[in-house]
Amino acid sequence: MTANVHDGETMTALQVACDTAVSGCVFKLRTEENDKQRLLEITREHVAEQHGKDFTLEEIEEQHVETVDVSTDGHEH
Ligand SMILES: [Zn+2]
Repeated sequence: MTANVHDGETMTALQVACDTAVSGCVFKLRTEENDKQRLLEITREHVAEQHGKDFTLEEIEEQHVETVDVSTDGHEH
């Protein structure tokens, strides 16, 4: 028996925050889950350009990407 409450749906998003706090960087980016590749690439470019550091996409994904729940509010999917 299933009792799915289809109200106040929660979806998952991906968020990355630049944690090179030393330089006071406030770079933060959030995308939908299926947009991960873009998130990783944008972040990699940012880190390379702003901080001169070379991360692989895997490193960014493992160390910097976090999953966040986003409550959708009357937003049709
Ligand atoms: Zn940064």
